Amino acid sequence: MSSSDSTPADVVIGIDLGTTNSLAAIMGRDGPRVLVAESASPLIPSVVSFLDDNKHIVGEKARALAIRNPRRTVHSVKRLMGRGLADLGDETTRLAYKIVDTEKSKLVRIDIDGQLYSPQEISALILGEVRRRAESALGTPVTKAVITVPAYFDDAQRQATRDAAQIAGLQALRIVNEPTAAALAYGLDTNREGTIVVYDLGGGTFDVSVLKITQGVYKVAATSGDTHLGGDDFDNAIMDRILGAVSNATGKDLRSQPEALQQIRLSAEAMKMELSTGDVATLEVDIGQDEPVTVRITRDDFEDMIRADIERTLACCRSALADADVEIEDVNDIVFVGGSTRIPLVRKRVTEVFGREPHTELDPDRVVALGAAIQADVISGGNRDLLLLDVIPLSLGLETMGGAFAKLITRNQTVPCSVTEMFSTYADNQSGIDINVYQGERELVADCRKLGSFKLTGLPGMAAGLPRVEVTFLVDADGVLTVKAREQRSGVSASIDVVPSHGLTRDEVKGIVRESIVNAHADFAARELIELSNKARNLIDGTQRVLDMPDLPFPPEQRDELAADIANLRALVEAQDLPGIKKACEVFGEKTQSLADDVIGAAIKQELNTERSL
Ligand code: AMP
Repeated sequence: MSSSDSTPADVVIGIDLGTTNSLAAIMGRDGPRVLVAESASPLIPSVVSFLDDNKHIVGEKARALAIRNPRRTVHSVKRLMGRGLADLGDETTRLAYKIVDTEKSKLVRIDIDGQLYSPQEISALILGEVRRRAESALGTPVTKAVITVPAYFDDAQRQATRDAAQIAGLQALRIVNEPTAAALAYGLDTNREGTIVVYDLGGGTFDVSVLKITQGVYKVAATSGDTHLGGDDFDNAIMDRILGAVSNATGKDLRSQPEALQQIRLSAEAMKMELSTGDVATLEVDIGQDEPVTVRITRDDFEDMIRADIERTLACCRSALADADVEIEDVNDIVFVGGSTRIPLVRKRVTEVFGREPHTELDPDRVVALGAAIQADVISGGNRDLLLLDVIPLSLGLETMGGAFAKLITRNQTVPCSVTEMFSTYADNQSGIDINVYQGERELVADCRKLGSFKLTGLPGMAAGLPRVEVTFLVDADGVLTVKAREQRSGVSASIDVVPSHGLTRDEVKGIVRESIVNAHADFAARELIELSNKARNLIDGTQRVLDMPDLPFPPEQRDELAADIANLRALVEAQDLPGIKKACEVFGEKTQSLADDVIGAAIKQELNTERSL
C-alpha cells in the first residue's frame, strides 16, 4: 500500500462508471477513499440533460430535469454502449429519449433534436463530470484512470468505454471488471486463501464472479451474469403496476406522455427503495382529474414482481460455480455489490442458497470504485505485490485443414496466458500459409466467430508435412490477443494483434456455449472425419511419394500391395466412411511407419508425420 496520497504527477484515480451512478476514488494514506467535491454527493447520477444552445448538464441536476426535459435527458446510457438497435429489443420503448440506428456502424445513436450522439459521447460527458469533481476534490489535474465495466462486457463495449474516456481527456490505463474490483476492496486486508463469490446487482446489470485467492493472488475462476437485469427492471415492474392502475381508474395511457413517464419512473424507484425498509409504499398519481389515483404496493407484492428475476441471478450463480468447478459448500465468502443488493429478498435468497450471510460491511454503491482505486494504485506503482487475473470467456484457436477448429486457449483460462503448438502443411511447396484465428466453442470454424487472419509468407518450397510451424497465442492482461507463427526450419515468421471482436453480446456468448453443448456429439463426429481424412491424405501422399522414388529396394509385390492400399484408402476418404478410414489408417499407418523405419530414414518419416495441417 502506498504511504501517502498520490502526487500530482502520477495521480491515477479509480472510476466506477455505473448505469445509474458514477463515482471516483483514490488510494490514500489509510486505504482507498471515495472522492467528494465540496458540497456535492460522491455518487454522480449517470444522467446527461441537453439544454438550449447546445449546452448540457450532468449529474443530480440532469436527473432532476428528466421530468421537465424527458426527450433531451439521457439516462442508463451504459446499456447502449457498443450495442445496435437489434441488441436492445423492447428496452427502447421504456426510454423517453429517442435512439436510432446508424446505417454505417449498426450501433445506436441518441437523437437530441436531430443532433446525433454516440453512447460513448454521452458517457464521455459523464466521465468529464467525474473527472472535474475529482480534480476539485484533489486540487490537482487528473488525466489517468482505471475504469470498471461489468465482467461480461464484450470487446465492443469495453472499447466503447475506452473511447468515452479518451473523449473525456482521460487515459484509461486499465479496464477492470467490476466484481474483481469489489473483491479487491474487501480482500486487501485479508490474506486468506479461499473462494469468493461476488454478487453484483446494480441498476442495469447483474454480474457474478467466482474468485479464487491463493497466497494473496486473485484469480477470476469464472464469471456469469446478465447485461439486462437490475434495479431498472424492478423500477419497470413497479412502473407497469402504476401505469396499469392509472389506466384502470381513468382509461388513460400515460406511456405516450414522456414527462409523466419520467415522473412515474422516479416515483417507482422511490417506492422500491421504501420497500427495502418498510412493508408498504403508497403513491398518489395526480393526472389532473379531481381525485388522484392511489397506488399501494406491499413488500409481498413487490417480492412477487421480482422473484423470477432474483431466481435468475441465482441460476447464474450456480452456472458460474459449475464453470469454476466449485461446490456451493466450498464458497468462503459472498461479497455484495450494487444498490439493488439492499433489497431484503436478495439478501434472504442468497443467504438461503449459499448457507451463509453475504458481506455487506462496505457500501455496495462504493465498493467497486474503492477497488478501482486499489488497482489504480497497483498500476502507478504503489502496490506491486497484488496480481489480478481475469478469464477468457470463449476459447481461441485457429482453422486447420478442412475447416476444423483447433483450440489453443480454452474458455475460462486465466489471463495473461500463452500457448504454443506445432502445425504443418498439407500441400507440397506451399510458399504461404493462411492463419485464420477464431473464437468459439464448436468443433468446426464454420460455427465459430472469425477474429482475424494473416499469412505466413516466404516459405521455401517444402514437401507437405515438412514445415514445422510453431503457432503462439498470447493474451495479455488487458485481454488483447496476439498470434504469432514461425516456421522453424526457415525461421520465417509473422504475427497479428487481433483487433477486438466487435458486437458480441453476453447473450451471444451464452448462446455460443449452449450450442456447443447441444451439438457436441455431431460436432465431434464431423471434426473426427475431417482430422482422419487429413491424416489419410497425408499417408496417401507420403506413401505415393515414396513409391515414386527410384531405386528403392521394394519387391514388386510390396509396391502393388501399397498401391492397392492407397486406392482403397482414397475410396474410403471419398465416401466419407469414418469407421472404414479409421481402420484403414491404423493398418496402413503401421505398415508405412515400419516401412519408413526400415527403409527410408528420418527425412521421409517426417513426411508421414501426424502434426495437424494448416
Ligand atoms: P448501482 O448500479 O450499483 O449504482 O445500483 C443502483 C441501483 O440500486 C438502482 O436501481 C437503485 O434504484 C438501486 N437501489 C439503491 N438503493 C436501493 C435500496 N435501498 N433498495 C433497493 N434498491 C436500491
